[in-house]
Formats: sequence, structure tokens, C-alpha cells
Amino acid sequence: MPRTPLVAGNWKMHKTEREAEEYIHALLPRVAALASVDLALCGPFTDLRAMIDSARGSRVDVYAQNMHEQREGAFTGEVSAAMLSELGVRGVVLGHCERRELFGESDRALALKVPAALRAGLTPILCVGETEAERDGAQTESKLRRQIAADLVGVPEDQLAHVVIAYEPIWAIGTGRVATPEQAQQAVAFIRALIAGRDGAAAERVRILYGGSVNPENAADLLGLADVDGALVGGASLQAASFAEIAGAAR
Ligand code: PEP
Repeated sequence: MPRTPLVAGNWKMHKTEREAEEYIHALLPRVAALASVDLALCGPFTDLRAMIDSARGSRVDVYAQNMHEQREGAFTGEVSAAMLSELGVRGVVLGHCERRELFGESDRALALKVPAALRAGLTPILCVGETEAERDGAQTESKLRRQIAADLVGVPEDQLAHVVIAYEPIWAIGTGRVATPEQAQQAVAFIRALIAGRDGAAAERVRILYGGSVNPENAADLLGLADVDGALVGGASLQAASFAEIAGAAR
């Protein structure tokens, strides 16, 4: 069965509730004809309800950018998968390099977060990728192997295909330096082989995205790669017009 492409916009800490509503109203007519692409917008917690209301009935799903692994408890400032799910959120970005680097998100926490998201019916987008130094030291594959093994260790076999993986080379995030199609294809095929090592059927179904300075100019080359099933888009997702153009390249 062919994998449906997923194009997800990661707004990071951008857009107030009003700006989020205006964006979605501008986006929906631009993507209304895209029948064969799944679309997601990953918004700040404060925007999620308004985003869900604005996108209702459209093909745009609303995702969060983080969650806590526990269902509830004394975790000041945190939000659980159950809270997101009840709101109508469909998925969540986990392990983004900014959360790993700036907020200390560990593989240990991710090993709990990914299955917790799945249990709550959320689609996790697990981000993995190497730094520039790791790339230059020929350590890309060992880094990916380590992250995939550690972060997916708690995912039951029958749930593996529901995880979305975003290959995001850290040196390409927000830098304007995009991976070449060869680099992206090689890394994404390697990730698929890692999943196949656990479950061949799941590897055929799991969606693997590329993320890192995707824009309307380079999207078609990246999204046309055999193993790339979509994109996680940061900066270029902040304007509805450019996000819609990127989504159009995934058809
Ligand atoms: C991201 O933050 O996940 C990302 C891919 O950002 P950008 O597209 O801006 O590089």
C-alpha cells in the first residue's frame, strides 16, 4: 500500500491565537484541492483549540510540539497526551533538536513519550538527526541507530507503523543549508532499514519525513525521493502561501 505523504509545519514559538486563526483561514483555500497529502500544523499550546476550531472539516490536522510522558501528576508547566487528545489534537512532535538541546529532552524521556502518545491515539513525529560534527566525523548512521533504538524501545510491534519519523540533520535546521537529495535519501533509507530490522512490514508502512530548511524552491526535489514520505517544515511554514506550495510539491 503506498504511503500517504505528510507535510507538517512546525511553528515553534510563533503566532498568537489570532494570528493562528488568520493563518488557517488563509491556508485552507490554498490546500483544498490537495486530496492525496496529509497536512499537519504543529502549534503552541495556547493556539491549539483555536487551530482545531479553524481547521475543522478540512484536511489540516493540528499537532502539538511537545508533551509529558505521564498521564497526570505534579509536573508544573507540563501537558499530557490525554489533555491533547481530548482537545482534538491529532499528533505531537517529539525529540525536536531544539527540545533536546535547549530543554534537555533525553532519549530516556522519549522512550516513554513515544508510547504514551500512541496510547492516547496521537501520532508521534519523532525527530532524529546528526550534528555537523557528527556528519563530518562519519557518525551519522551511528547517531541515527542509537536514537532510533533508544527512542522507540517502548513501542509495541503492532504500533510501530503508526510512528512518523522526521530525519532532521541538525546542521540544516533553520540555517538555509539543506541536505542534498543524495544525503537525505541515504539517511532516510538507512532509517527505514533500521525499522525493517525490527519489523519488515512496519518499515514498509512507516512514514519518514525530511526536515531542515525545506522551502518552496527545494521541496519538489526532496519530496520526490523514493524513501521520503513528506516534510517537517519550520521557517517556511510560517507563511500560509509557502506552506501550501510545499504541500503541493508532495502530491
Ligand atoms: C524544524 O524546526 O523542524 C525545521 C525543519 O526548521 P526549518 O525548516 O526552519 O529548518
